[in-house]
Amino acid sequence: MNLPDLKKAKIRSDEEVKTIEATNLKSNKFAGKKYFLKTYGCQMNVHDSEEIKGILKNLGFSETLDYEEADIIVLNTCAIRENAHDKVFGFLGRVKHLKKEKPDLLVAVGGCMPQQNSVANLLKEKYPFVNIVFGTHNINDLGKMIVDAKSKQDIEVYSIEGNIYENIEYDRDSKYCAWVNIMYGCDKFCTYCIVPFTRGKQRSRKMEDILEEVQKLKDEGYLEVTLLGQNVNAYGKDLDTSYDFATLLENVANIGIERIRFVTSHPWDFTDKMIEVIAKYPNIMPYIHLPLQSGSSKILKLMGRRYTKEEYLELYRKIKDSIPGVSITTDIIVGFPNETDEDFEETLDVVNKCKFDGAFTFIYSPREGTPAALIKDSISMEVKEKRLQILNNLVNDYSLEHNKEYVGKLVKVLVTENSLKGTDKVCGYTDTMKLVNIDGAKEDIGKIINVKITEAKSFSLDGEKVIFTNI
Ligand code: SF4
Repeated sequence: MNLPDLKKAKIRSDEEVKTIEATNLKSNKFAGKKYFLKTYGCQMNVHDSEEIKGILKNLGFSETLDYEEADIIVLNTCAIRENAHDKVFGFLGRVKHLKKEKPDLLVAVGGCMPQQNSVANLLKEKYPFVNIVFGTHNINDLGKMIVDAKSKQDIEVYSIEGNIYENIEYDRDSKYCAWVNIMYGCDKFCTYCIVPFTRGKQRSRKMEDILEEVQKLKDEGYLEVTLLGQNVNAYGKDLDTSYDFATLLENVANIGIERIRFVTSHPWDFTDKMIEVIAKYPNIMPYIHLPLQSGSSKILKLMGRRYTKEEYLELYRKIKDSIPGVSITTDIIVGFPNETDEDFEETLDVVNKCKFDGAFTFIYSPREGTPAALIKDSISMEVKEKRLQILNNLVNDYSLEHNKEYVGKLVKVLVTENSLKGTDKVCGYTDTMKLVNIDGAKEDIGKIINVKITEAKSFSLDGEKVIFTNI
C-alpha cells in the first residue's frame, strides 16, 4: 500500500496472530548493521521503543547513539504537543542531508504522529526519502517492513486498533525496572487530547497475561515494575469480567516483586478499593501521579474531565489520609481556550491546598482533530506564558518544601544508574519517587539500599549510603 489509508482496520485472523507471536521476526540480513532510535513523548512511547529495539535486535542490528553512523534511523514520534511535531520535522531535515551522503540509509518514522492523516500525507509528499511509515497499531509489522524495504516509501498506518499481541520480545532499557503495559488506548476523550485518536479505544490485556509477564520479570531479577496505561484505573472496564484495576494491583502485589508502580491515573476512575489496596501492600509504592489539568470546574467541564475542583480535592484528601507518607504529583495545563484570570486563580488555589510533590506544567497546545482545537481563544500567548511562570514558581516552592522534609531521614533507594551529577555518583528513586543522587556506591547499581538524605533541591535529593553493622 502506498497511499496513507487511515480508514482501514487491521484485525488479524487467529492464525496470523499466532504467527506474529511466534515470529518476533528473526533474520541475519542486517547482522553487523547499526540502528539509531530516537523516542519522543511519554512512557508509553518509551516502552514501545523497547519493542522496536527488540525487533531491530532480532534483525541483527546493534544500537548506536550517533545517528550519522547508523544504517537505519527510526523515529518513534509523539503527537501530544506542537513542539514535538516541530522537533521530529527538524530532525528529519538533518536526516535528509545524511541520506544524500548515505543513499542506502533506511529511515523509518512511526508512533503517534503518522496516526494523523495530515502527518501521513505530509510525509508522503514532502519527505519521500523516509522509507517506512508505521503507526501505533502495527509496531509489530516493523520487522517485516524493514526486511521488505525498498527505495519507494511504504506507508502502513491503521485507524483501528486491532489485536493485542502477547509474548513481545522487548529489549528493555533497564535490568532492574520494567514497564508492563496493562492496557492500550483510552476511552475518555478529554476534549484537548489526541491520544484516543492516535492510540485508539481502550483495550485491556487479560489479567493472566499481565501476571505471567510480571512473574517472569521477577524470576529474571527485576526489582520494580510499572504498570502502564493511559488511564490505568479504567483497567478491565472493556473486558467481559468482574475484575478491575484494584484486583489486578492486588494480584501483582502477591507475586512479591519488590516494588510496584503505576501510571497514569484518571481521578474519575479512582476508587476507594484502589486506595485500600495501595495502602495494604508495602510493595505497592506510596506514589500517585494524579493529573489535575485545571483547578477551575468550568475549565474542567470544557476539558471533558468529568470531575469538579471539589471532587478532585476530596479524592486528594482521601488518598493522603489513607496512604501513609504518599507523595502525589500532577499535570497542569495553563491557557486552555478562554481561561480567565479567575480560572487560573482556581488552579493556584488547588496547588496551594494540595501542595503537590511535583507537577508537569504545560501551556495548552491545540491538537488538530480534537474538539478543543475548534474553540476560538481570546487569551494571548504572553498572558499564558506569564501564568505558566507563576505556576512553575509555586509548584517548585512546594516541591522544595517537600524535599526539605527528607533531610536527615533514612530512605530506601533503588539504585538504577550512574548519576549525571558527577562521575563518583549514582542515582535512583525512593519509594515516593524522589530522585536521589548518592556518593560513591557504583557497586550498588541494581540494589535497594539505605540512604541518609543530606541535601534537598527542588527536583532531587542528595544522600549518603548507610550500612548497618551489628554492635
Ligand atoms: S484520560 Fe484524557 S488526557 Fe488522558 S489519555 Fe485519555 S483522553 Fe487523553
